[in-house]
Parts: sequence; C-alpha cells; structure tokens
Amino acid sequence: MDWILLGPPGAGKGTQAQRLARRWNLVHLSTGELFRQHIHHHTPLGAKVAHYLEKGELVPDGLVLELVRDQFRQLPPDQGCLLDGFPRTRVQAEVFEHILQELGRRLGGVLFLQVGTEELVRRLMGRGRMDDTPETIRQRLQVYQRDTEPVIQYYQEKGLLLPVSGEGTVDQVHHRLVEAVRDRRDGRT
Ligand code: AMP
Repeated sequence: MDWILLGPPGAGKGTQAQRLARRWNLVHLSTGELFRQHIHHHTPLGAKVAHYLEKGELVPDGLVLELVRDQFRQLPPDQGCLLDGFPRTRVQAEVFEHILQELGRRLGGVLFLQVGTEELVRRLMGRGRMDDTPETIRQRLQVYQRDTEPVIQYYQEKGLLLPVSGEGTVDQVHHRLVEAVRDRRDGRT
C-alpha cells in the first residue's frame, strides 16, 4: 500500500517521511530531493528544473509526473511507497490516481501535517538549505496556498485525508503519524 505525506514547506515532511519509511519498510520518494540530486549531478533533468527550485516555484506537472511514473514503474508490486512533497497540484493528484490504477496499486491515505505560518517561517529560516532564502521561502508559502491547498481539498473529498498536527517535537509528531496510519489501516478512521 502507498501513502502520501503532504503539508506546507517547513512542516517537517522530509524528516518525518524518512522515519515513517524506515519504520514500515516503505520506499521514501521525495520529488524535491530527487530534483536536488539531478541538479547536483548536472543531469539534463537537473538543467530543466534548476531555475524553478531557485525561485521557489513549482516544476511543471509534466516533468514531475514523468519522474514519478518512472520511479513507480521500477517498484516491485508488493513494495509500498511513501511520497513526500507529491502531489503538489490537482493535476498531479488526478494523473497519479491513473498511474496507481495502471500499476494495480492502492493509496492507503494522505497524511496532512498541519503547522501554523509563524512556526513554518521560523523553521524554514533555520534550515539553511540551498533553496531556502527569505525570498524563496515567501514564494514557496504562496505557491503552497495557491496550488497545493486544492490538493488537500481533493483528498478530503475522497475521504483519504488524515490531518495530523505537525507542532511539537520530531518524536511527538512521529507518534501522531504512526497512530493516524494505524487507525486507517485498522479501519478506525
Ligand atoms: P521540497 O523538497 O518538497 O520542498 O521541494 C523543493 C522544490 O522542488 C519545490 O520548491 C519545487 O520547486 C520542486 N518540487 C518538488 N516536488 C514538486 C512537485 N510535486 N511539483 C512541482 N514542483 C516540485
């Protein structure tokens, strides 16, 4: 079964996804991390996406979906995946549904990490990643509101959304996520 971890930039998706993936033996698929690796290794895809990451804008859906489709085709059918930072637009969510269908896979649920804006900015400023300047941070938060909040609503309507508070320590948030997945798997939510 596959799972999605969504939330605003700075919500702690990367850290939490790594821990969850280790705990449940899921493949951790972070589209942002894959793009950063392509840029680092100067691949053709890296050259195409670099300026979007530099500006804090979204990479066009076509490129993102090609990457995700490729990654999923390589997954053994019984190997679950945890997606982090994907889908980020409604189109991505819709096409992803088809990709899963084609491959006979099923989405367990969409974990939604919720963190207040002030806390987000504080965390992003302290992170020091190459694409974390005050300008890109502002831009990414705006893009999130415009493009990604509709994705939250999309999964809410499908009954797949599992909201979890992302405030507090890494351990606290981890345990909340574990509970949310367990409740869903055991049919309590
Ligand atoms: P992240 O590491 O998830 O914060 O992603 C870093 C950057 O990669 C984003 O600001 C976007 O430029 C790009 N990116 C990552 N995932 C996606 C996606 N699903 N759709 C569009 N752009 C993405």
